[in-house]
Amino acid sequence: MRVLGIETSCDETGVAVYDTTAGGSAGLRAHAVYSQIALHAEYGGVVPELASRDHVRKLLSLVRQTLAEAGLTTADLDGVAYTAGPGLVGALLVGAGTARALAWALDVPAIGVHHMEGHLLAPLIEDDPPEPPFVALLVSGGHTQLVAVDAIGRYRMLGETLDDAAGEAFDKTAKLMGLPYPGGPQLAALAEQGTPGAYRFARPMTDRPGLDFSFSGLKTQVLLAWQQSDQSPQTRADIARGFEDAVVDTLAIKCERALDAAGSDTPACNTLVVAGGVGANKRLRARLQAMCVQRGGRACFPRPALCTDNGAMIAFAGALRLQAGQHDDAQVKVVARWDMAALPPVAAGMVE
Ligand code: ATP
Ligand code: MG
Ligand code: FE
Repeated sequence: MRVLGIETSCDETGVAVYDTTAGGSAGLRAHAVYSQIALHAEYGGVVPELASRDHVRKLLSLVRQTLAEAGLTTADLDGVAYTAGPGLVGALLVGAGTARALAWALDVPAIGVHHMEGHLLAPLIEDDPPEPPFVALLVSGGHTQLVAVDAIGRYRMLGETLDDAAGEAFDKTAKLMGLPYPGGPQLAALAEQGTPGAYRFARPMTDRPGLDFSFSGLKTQVLLAWQQSDQSPQTRADIARGFEDAVVDTLAIKCERALDAAGSDTPACNTLVVAGGVGANKRLRARLQAMCVQRGGRACFPRPALCTDNGAMIAFAGALRLQAGQHDDAQVKVVARWDMAALPPVAAGMVE
């Protein structure tokens, strides 16, 4: 089954074709992402109306480009998947409207995909994919969640952030030290030149039981340290390193706890799946992999390009559900907020 995936929940236009007959990474026939970062940079954040308009401008040409790269035409498509939420409603409507129109014209089924389920399943696009049950850490610009994945489509929320998401904390911290939007990846790059231990920040909420996170206080600690410093380039790198270490440490401590908790009533759970933009962070990847290997398990990540928003994860997640016989009716419906635990399970063993 060949499924076109369309992602327009925020400031990336993503399109991909996933072919379930090939499976794994070979199933990803083509994917392309157009980022609106330059458009929003001068405002220091995403401007929803500009985002919607830019999706309108870019989406169809990206669909054509992706199909051409895959060596396919629209007639080769068996289904269309689009992000139906959570996200910016105007931006979501562009993808949903386009996807529904295409599906209608081609007379193929279409399905609205949960953006965070897309992120969560992205590591399964890679070869040697993990099988549930496993624990997933979702670390993106808008979410920080620990999820018990009992089966594909059966998600239990173990913990989440009470304030800023990890990616948001990276971006805001970068901004207060004068780095341009979105500063997360730049802050991480800067941290490479920082001296480990020169600055030490708190590991929020690790001193008490529980799997929730809180990152907003960390940002304030960085602000004070930065204001009281000489603000030299080396100091900025040192603070960046201190901040990154604090976030990575905090995430690793909670992931280990989540694996322990998940394994308490079932055989030991040592598989961690990590997804979302912050999952591209090198130090986080190394740290979580080391932690899992030490437990005799493994950590599974998508390649960095599939950590941040992309159409591949939507094509893949949509394909799994379409294959299981699920689809949505013809109305163009999107949701700004959507609880992942409310999703229907994906029945196993359906036809290819
Ligand atoms: P959500 O998925 O919650 O709606 P989003 O789609 O905006 O949010 P993603 O595209 O998954 O989020 O990820 C973007 C975030 O990832 C940004 O906050 C960005 O700073 C962060 N990020 C990307 N690369 C890195 C990196 N190497 N280190 C740290 N953070 C990073
Ligand atoms: Mg983005
Ligand atoms: Fe995202």
